[in-house]
Amino acid sequence: MKKSHSKYNWTMVFFLTIFPLVGIVGTSFYIYFYGVVWQEPILLLSFWFISGMGITMGYHRLFSHKSYQTNVFLEWVLMIFGSLALENTILKWSSDHRKHHNKPESEDDPYSITKGFWYAHIGWVVENTDEEKNKIMGVKDLEKKSAVRFQSKYYLYIAVVFGFIVPFLIGLSYGRPIGAVLWGSFLRITLVHHATFFINSLCHYVGRRTYDLESTARDSWFMSLFTFGEGYHNYHHKFPSDFRNGISWFAFDPSKWFINILSFTGITKNLRRTKEYLIFKSKFESIHKSMNTILFSIDESHKSFYDEKIKTLIQSANEIINAWKESDKIMSDMSTFKQYKSELKKIYKDLKKISKNLKKESLVLSS
Ligand SMILES: [Zn+2]
Ligand SMILES: [Zn+2]
Repeated sequence: MKKSHSKYNWTMVFFLTIFPLVGIVGTSFYIYFYGVVWQEPILLLSFWFISGMGITMGYHRLFSHKSYQTNVFLEWVLMIFGSLALENTILKWSSDHRKHHNKPESEDDPYSITKGFWYAHIGWVVENTDEEKNKIMGVKDLEKKSAVRFQSKYYLYIAVVFGFIVPFLIGLSYGRPIGAVLWGSFLRITLVHHATFFINSLCHYVGRRTYDLESTARDSWFMSLFTFGEGYHNYHHKFPSDFRNGISWFAFDPSKWFINILSFTGITKNLRRTKEYLIFKSKFESIHKSMNTILFSIDESHKSFYDEKIKTLIQSANEIINAWKESDKIMSDMSTFKQYKSELKKIYKDLKKISKNLKKESLVLSS
């Protein structure tokens, strides 16, 4: 296995230092000397939105996970938008991302959290990796796409033209091209980069594990605000091919909203949605496991009392889930599903209450 001599990839180190430096310090100086015009924050927000959505809706949910289908035109649009984020080509991004999902937290996971917060955040980008591990693989399906093939050849040109020259020209139209590049390119790229990086670091570190207690991935509604809905990472790791990351209607997930809205026009189609009973199943498994862990730490007399209660509730939940699964096969009417749903919600609520009490008891015992 060939290994590069230096620990760091100095080109990457240079660019990932220069972007935040110019983006934050440079923009601050520019504001100090020349002030701000309204076009500048608008430029920042619009280019952030475009490039961020290019990554989430394009690179991530369309190309890496194939969670929906679309026409060639939107593939090209998302390819161009995603290129503006300067996060490498679709092929490299998707190859890394598929490895991350296939073997999470292993040696083959390019941004494994087991190597630490810093490594999962940016270390893996700036450090040299073994050639073998760095290889683009598992993306043959994407190589057939015209947008992907074109991007592989001209990635840097697309990124420079749309990411720097276009903001420069927009700025030129109102007489502040330097300000436009500082806001619309350098500061915006810094924000897009670190928002994406935080999914690999923070979202494998802090947050709830409602759907899979064994995964390091966690749900964070807060991170979703900066990542166009990608903060619901525990759900995403459990059900990676779902086009949604935030499943409740109020979950901030603009990528999901856009994919959904476009499906009404036929531009996006075959949206992949996890069956609801499977989502409930994962929730019950997760809460059961977490309660079992706490049960170990409380005294015997209370243990059997709680254990009995939990087992009865989990059994009822499993019976409903199985009945739901069966009626799903024969396409029962909506009212049946609604009833299952409300019953499961009630059981889950009861389990949460017990879980809360259990936590309190274990805290009392440990203090
Ligand atoms: Zn992840
Ligand atoms: Zn993913």
